[in-house]
Amino acid sequence: MDGAVVTINAGSSSVKFALFRDGKRIESGAGGRLDDVAGFMSEVGRLLRAHGVERSLVGVGHRIVHGGSRFFEPVIASGEILAELRQLMPFDPEHLPAEIALVEACTRVFAGVPQVLCFDTAFHRDLPIVARMLAIPRKYFDAGVRRYGFHGLSYTYLMQELERVAGAKTTRGRVILAHLGNGASRASVREGRCVDTTMAFTPTAGLVMGTRSGDLDPGIAAYLARSEGMSAEQFAAMASSRSGMLGVSETSSDVRELLEREKSDPRAAEAIGLFCFQARKWIGALAAGLGGLDVLVFSGGIGENSAVIRGRICEGLEFLGIDLDAGRNERGEAVISREESMASVRVIRTDEESVIAEAVCRLIET
Ligand code: AMP
Repeated sequence: MDGAVVTINAGSSSVKFALFRDGKRIESGAGGRLDDVAGFMSEVGRLLRAHGVERSLVGVGHRIVHGGSRFFEPVIASGEILAELRQLMPFDPEHLPAEIALVEACTRVFAGVPQVLCFDTAFHRDLPIVARMLAIPRKYFDAGVRRYGFHGLSYTYLMQELERVAGAKTTRGRVILAHLGNGASRASVREGRCVDTTMAFTPTAGLVMGTRSGDLDPGIAAYLARSEGMSAEQFAAMASSRSGMLGVSETSSDVRELLEREKSDPRAAEAIGLFCFQARKWIGALAAGLGGLDVLVFSGGIGENSAVIRGRICEGLEFLGIDLDAGRNERGEAVISREESMASVRVIRTDEESVIAEAVCRLIET
């Protein structure tokens, strides 16, 4: 594919971008805060000028966190598509308004250049009904309240890369993908299809994360409403931004910082302990759903970089056939399990941007 492609990856608080030329990444970086669209656009403009590709921009790709039950395949944005996406805003008020604002800003600034939307929920489109349905009155399921699952672009990359390094036979086995970053989730995959995942209707569900609580007893919202007069919005903000390892440690959501402090601060040790315990428990749960385990893949900032955390998560999982090789784990090798381990454990550096860039090239060529 000739020409330049920019990818825009907006998370809950910050935006990352990457520039691809002729299908190859030439630069990536952090573009600042999500609430500063003007600042971000001027950063993208600077990037294009610096590489002399302002006139050869052929497409912009956007990560869109929530596609609801409507969007699965990447699409080129249009007035109608954006109007439909706006209707999904109540599902994801944390991400969608800012992501739509970025698409609109790019449409204005790069007039005539296709804006391609890539959905994080799409990877989980085939979830079986038992994983998709949440056990509340059925009318809510019919209204779209269900497990969607997120981190789908990362999971798409991990499966592509797993096939490249380990072969198609491996990707047809029982695979658990662990995306462990500031946001953390798991997906279990069998025959190449996602059969379960830890995040649900929102990215707050599942594992304990940096600032998100993960799964909670639904009774807590009612209790805090009664005891403290906490509103639904206040509860959602607390569970999403002030909970998880930050909430428990009272100091930081950052695993590196917590590891540095764990010997001197019991709250930091408990936050890390909670994270590893739940991460381990979820491997057991997802493996039970799969009927066993062939491959476990670690990814995300924590999964890719922290041998200590990978080791602690795998401790006691020998019953699942996981036999970690301490040296390989320490060195962060591609395979960190022993030769004779029944299940192989791998580390793969994820790359959501390349999945977005590929989708842009595919769509604008057709
Ligand atoms: P991400 O959201 O994927 O960028 O991941 C961010 C998380 O990865 C933070 O909690 C970081 O502390 C953690 N992280 C990055 N590098 C390391 C490392 N070398 N050891 C432990 N945690 C790390």
